[in-house]
Amino acid sequence: MKYYAGIDLGGTNIVAGIVDEHFVIVASAKRKTALPRPCDAIVEDMAAALKEAAAQAGISLKELEYVGLGCPGMIDYHHGVVVYSNNLEFYHEPLGEKLSQQLEGLPVWMANDADAAAFGEFKAGAGRGSEHMIAITLGTGLGSGIIIHSKLYTGFAYGGAEFGHSLLVKDGELCTCGRRGCLEAYASATGLIRMTKRHMESNRDSMMWKLVDGDLNRVSGRTAFDAMRQGDAEGSRVVEIYTECLAEGIVNIVNIFQPEIICIGGGLSKEGDTLLKPINRYIEQYAFSRFADKNTVVRIAELGNDAGLIGAAFLKDAFHCR
Ligand code: BGC
Ligand code: ZN
Repeated sequence: MKYYAGIDLGGTNIVAGIVDEHFVIVASAKRKTALPRPCDAIVEDMAAALKEAAAQAGISLKELEYVGLGCPGMIDYHHGVVVYSNNLEFYHEPLGEKLSQQLEGLPVWMANDADAAAFGEFKAGAGRGSEHMIAITLGTGLGSGIIIHSKLYTGFAYGGAEFGHSLLVKDGELCTCGRRGCLEAYASATGLIRMTKRHMESNRDSMMWKLVDGDLNRVSGRTAFDAMRQGDAEGSRVVEIYTECLAEGIVNIVNIFQPEIICIGGGLSKEGDTLLKPINRYIEQYAFSRFADKNTVVRIAELGNDAGLIGAAFLKDAFHCR
């Protein structure tokens, strides 16, 4: 059995793991990302987590060919450099080299976090068997990965495949990238939480207040969905606006790429059909490709929180060349 190593560096957690050739995670270890932190401290934690996972699996670093790393932001995968990350606040950070130094010179392959998740779903999850697919992750940010002819496409200078920063509303909400009106500012979990809080503030009778014990700091991406399920009108309104924003963004993607599959991952994907139904309705009504014989299928991601780690572990197959 051959074993692979992957690390998913997220805004909240660092997860490192050993994955077998059937895409099963055989051991994993976690650390808090605890932002804002200097890059070197994060590198130390990533290395420690990977060593812990390898020890659990009874594998020495020498037996591994490389470690794959998924990281938010614009990633120069040829050189293992984070060109820019709005979430981690890294600029031109040689993360791959730094990590390799902490891991006895083990080569590091890097990709954007959502690209790694897309590749994971493509190899082992909702995109299996397809040739052209797109994955979207709904979390702190809105990530996206494009697979064309079974390989990741990230733009000619690593700055592409960022649907989160495509425009949804002119002069709209401020995004973490510094621009106003990005899809991410509306359709990420962060965008949903902001909208939920606003609706709660202007509607003191909403059941959402009870769900969070009167504390706005306890509002999560689930609050409005839970309230809707219990018949709360304001919760339903928030969910309706949220799913419409996401659906508009997805129709744009279909109109540009018409991939075979779009899969939706990240924490909010747990809402399943509540998300899928309005999206599919929008595609049927508004996508240009509604006149085509076959159209994009939108699915919920299958690997859950493991997609980024599994995809990272197989990153060497994800690019045409490095
Ligand atoms: C970043 C992306 C990242 C996404 C998900 C966005 O804010 O710009 O690079 O993939 O968040 O983490
Ligand atoms: Zn943006």
